[in-house]
Amino acid sequence: RSKTRQRGGHGYYTQDMGADIRERVKLLRGLRSAFESERLFVMYQPQLQLMGNRVLGAEALIRWKTEDGKFVPPDRFIPVAEYSGLIVAIGEWVLRTACRELNRLIDLGYPDFRMAVNVSVAQLRHPDFIAMLQSALADTGVNPAQVELEITESMAMEDVNFIVQIVDQIKQTGVTIAIDDFGTGFSSLSQLRHLRVDRLKIDRAFVNEIVAIDKGCDIARMVVELARSLHLEVLAEGIETEQQAAVLRELGCHEGQGYLFARPMEPAQLVTWLAEHRG
Ligand code: C2E
Ligand code: MG
Ligand code: MG
Ligand code: MG
Repeated sequence: RSKTRQRGGHGYYTQDMGADIRERVKLLRGLRSAFESERLFVMYQPQLQLMGNRVLGAEALIRWKTEDGKFVPPDRFIPVAEYSGLIVAIGEWVLRTACRELNRLIDLGYPDFRMAVNVSVAQLRHPDFIAMLQSALADTGVNPAQVELEITESMAMEDVNFIVQIVDQIKQTGVTIAIDDFGTGFSSLSQLRHLRVDRLKIDRAFVNEIVAIDKGCDIARMVVELARSLHLEVLAEGIETEQQAAVLRELGCHEGQGYLFARPMEPAQLVTWLAEHRG
C-alpha cells in the first residue's frame, strides 16, 4: 500500500477507494443472500390529496432487515444493487409485490387506489424492461392506470434522449410516471417539455425548508408553477408539519406524502391505517 498519503495525492484516494470497494462487496453479498432468502420486504407510505386529506394511494418502499434485526437503509444498498445489476431482479420483485398489494387493497374496498413504485435508470436500461413491465401488469391483472413509476430527476437527466424515448414506451403500457426528488437535478423547461411524464414530486429537502408562506418556499413555489405551466400534477414529499402542508396548499400543490400523515407501513398496518383514516 502507498505510503504517500498526502492530501489530494493519489495514495490517499486509492486507500479510500479500497475501503469503499470492500464495503460494497460486503453489502452486495449480504443483499444477494437477503434477496434469495426472502429477507427483503416492501413497506407502503400513503399519498394524499392535500385538500381534505383524502388518500390517493401509496408509494412502495423496499426494506432490508438483516439476520441480526438491523435495517439497512435503501439509500445505502440501492446504489450497490444498481451498480451490480441486481436491481433488475429486485426491481421486478418490488413491482410484482406492489401490484399484488394493489389488488388486495382493491378487494378490500379501495377501487381507485394508486400504487407508486420506484425504478432505477439501471432497470430502464435493461433491454427487457418494457417486456418485464408488460408481463408484471398482465400476470397480476392490475389496471395499468393505477400503477405509477417514479424515476429520480438526477438519474433521468443523465441521458435525456434515452429517457424521453423510454418514457414514451412506458406510457404506451398505460402506467403513469412521476419524476422523483424534483428540484435536485437540472432539468430545463425545454427538456421537461419532451418528457411525457404525469407528475413532479417536490424533493423533501425543499419541503423541509418551508417555514412560512414567505419563508423557504421559493423552490416549492417554482416547482408548483412549473408543473402548472406544463399541465402536470405535483406532489410534495417529506411533509412533516401542519405548517408545511398549509403553505403547500396555499401554493396550489394538490398532493402530499410525509410523516405528518403516515410513515411507510407494512401491509397489515396500512390496511388498519386506511380503515381508521376513512372513518
Ligand atoms: P424516495 O423514492 O424519494 O422515497 C421517499 C423517502 O423519504 C423514503 O425513504 C421515505 O421513507 C422518506 N420519507 C417519507 N416521508 C418522510 C418525512 O416526512 N420525513 C423524512 N425525513 N423522510 C420521509 P426510504 O424508504 O429510506 O427510501 C430512500 C430512497 O431509496 C427512495 O427515495 C428511493 O430513491 C430509494 N428506494 C426505495 N425503495 C426503492 C425501490 O424499490 N427501488 C428503487 N430503485 N429505489 C428505491
Ligand atoms: Mg420515490
Ligand atoms: Mg423522493
Ligand atoms: Mg430519493
